[in-house]
Amino acid sequence: MRCVKKNKCIFLDRDGTINKYKGLISKPEDIELINGAAEAIRIINESEYLCIVVSNQPGVAKNLCSLDTAWEINERLKDLLIKRDAYLDDIFICPHHPEKGFPDENVEFKIKCNCRKPETGMIEQAALKYNIDLSESFLIGDTSIDVKTGSNCKMKTVLVETGLGGMDEKYKVVPDYRMKDIYEAVKFILKE
Ligand SMILES: [Zn+2]
Repeated sequence: MRCVKKNKCIFLDRDGTINKYKGLISKPEDIELINGAAEAIRIINESEYLCIVVSNQPGVAKNLCSLDTAWEINERLKDLLIKRDAYLDDIFICPHHPEKGFPDENVEFKIKCNCRKPETGMIEQAALKYNIDLSESFLIGDTSIDVKTGSNCKMKTVLVETGLGGMDEKYKVVPDYRMKDIYEAVKFILKE
């Protein structure tokens, strides 16, 4: 009998969790790392966990930036991290936004999708691509949307105090853990 062991993953929200919260990010220069974020990702890299970013980027649908620019922003994030020996295994973004009818919007992306957190599409795609056991995985983020996404996917969730620090109050949800920042969260998960 063939037995394939599944992977474990620490999923990370991007804005407010890895890089400083500056509202909707629309250009690469907006990316500025939160203290300890590169170290946190480096210790994930040294562990048995994959490290994958899942980020809502409705700025594309709102036409604040193009889809190409959205990926240039991710490249800038990867570059800043690589300079500090920290690597992301993958990045998934949702460029959509559900509410139509604003001036100058990018109609193509104004849809109700299944990838915009707290929907589970990005996580399910990653789980399929990397053979991830979600019950053994974590989601670290700064909003109730992240906590809701994690619990929708039966993952353990860590809410951090950086970025919006859970103050968005979009969903009435309780995280499994609350930590100061991504560094504390990763140290806690890996019990180092
Ligand atoms: Zn989407």
